[in-house]
Amino acid sequence: MKINRNFDNLVESYLFAEVADRTEKYAAANPDKKIIRMGIGDVTLPLAPVVVEAIKKAADEMGKAETFKGYPSYEGYEFLRKAISGYYASFGVLVGADEVYVNDGAKSDCGNIGDIFSTDSTVLVTDPVYPVYVDTNIMAGRKIVIAPSTKENSFCATPDETIHPDVIYLCSPNNPTGAAYTKEQLEQWVEYAIKNDAIILYDSAYEAFISDDKPRSIFAIVGARQCAIEFCSLSKTAGFTGLRCGYTVIPKEMERDGHSIGKLWYRRQSSKFNGVSYPVQRAAEAVFSPEGRRQTRENIEYYKRNASLIMQTMDALGIEYTGGKNSPYIWISCPNNMGSWEFFDFLLEKANVVATPGEGFGECGKGCMRFTSFASYEATKEAMQRLTESLK
Ligand code: PLP
Repeated sequence: MKINRNFDNLVESYLFAEVADRTEKYAAANPDKKIIRMGIGDVTLPLAPVVVEAIKKAADEMGKAETFKGYPSYEGYEFLRKAISGYYASFGVLVGADEVYVNDGAKSDCGNIGDIFSTDSTVLVTDPVYPVYVDTNIMAGRKIVIAPSTKENSFCATPDETIHPDVIYLCSPNNPTGAAYTKEQLEQWVEYAIKNDAIILYDSAYEAFISDDKPRSIFAIVGARQCAIEFCSLSKTAGFTGLRCGYTVIPKEMERDGHSIGKLWYRRQSSKFNGVSYPVQRAAEAVFSPEGRRQTRENIEYYKRNASLIMQTMDALGIEYTGGKNSPYIWISCPNNMGSWEFFDFLLEKANVVATPGEGFGECGKGCMRFTSFASYEATKEAMQRLTESLK
């Protein structure tokens, strides 16, 4: 028996383990210090009341013979797919309910989608990068090429005409940089994908944080229906990180090699996935109701207020950053030319604040640090005061 030796090529991710280790050591040596964590990538506010009500109601239905539900359909209940289609329409994007595939979160599909592509495809990722895109393709043995997101391009990587990828991962608003693509930038990527007969895998997990006129979906771009698949999630939109529900959109007309991409994906899902539970799908449907949208918006505004506070502090300190405006992430250039880990230790020791070193997300993250807006307002405020004091 032989194991998949591609796993040997995975780089051991020591980022969060190292962050935890350094933090624990400092806390043990300094028990009187109150450490504030500004590195968390998980939501902290509870579920909206309409969502909780929907779960309770669905649980009651499951407890009665007349309304009990067994296996759900692979692609999701029609009531939810229609609600998602209606949500897209609310910001002017046409997506059919029959183009939506409900899942247990965007992470699964961002990785699993590789099942339908050849292992000799070349995959382009932007750097710094959400590690799932890289690791899942290394596991499959695919070649990975990098498009750098740097200060020079305002952390929005651009197509490289000398590279000819088959698959292109884009994430906007981006984790970790918080940068969001403009319509013109996405038009360039769509044109590039079509020229290379490539498919764009577009991760819009943070679209609900967009507050200006930047596109909230790749399907707002002409031509994208020929060349893009979109992954979205209720994790950050509605605090579903612990409940688990997301959705993938594959346009009906997308074909490659004489195959419908949607049909291939359905075939893959029906072999390896048994759907999302009824109560969770009812909870997700509630998010898209008018009251659900109002209630979940309140939570997003809370995080955005924290992000504004972080941005104001960086502005006052003259620290360069991106993100924050359309994202829960603020990606800063470490002050005084410090390296990521050097600034991590400085922050921990001088301000008792923990953030995430940028180099953990790729080469281009060197010298950067990711702050998140998921802590409480009070903690965020105190962390920013301490940061300001520490740099005086
Ligand atoms: N995509 C990006 C860019 C993320 O940052 C995350 C979670 O942090 C996900 C996808 C995963 O989301 P989900 O909870 O829906 O699996």
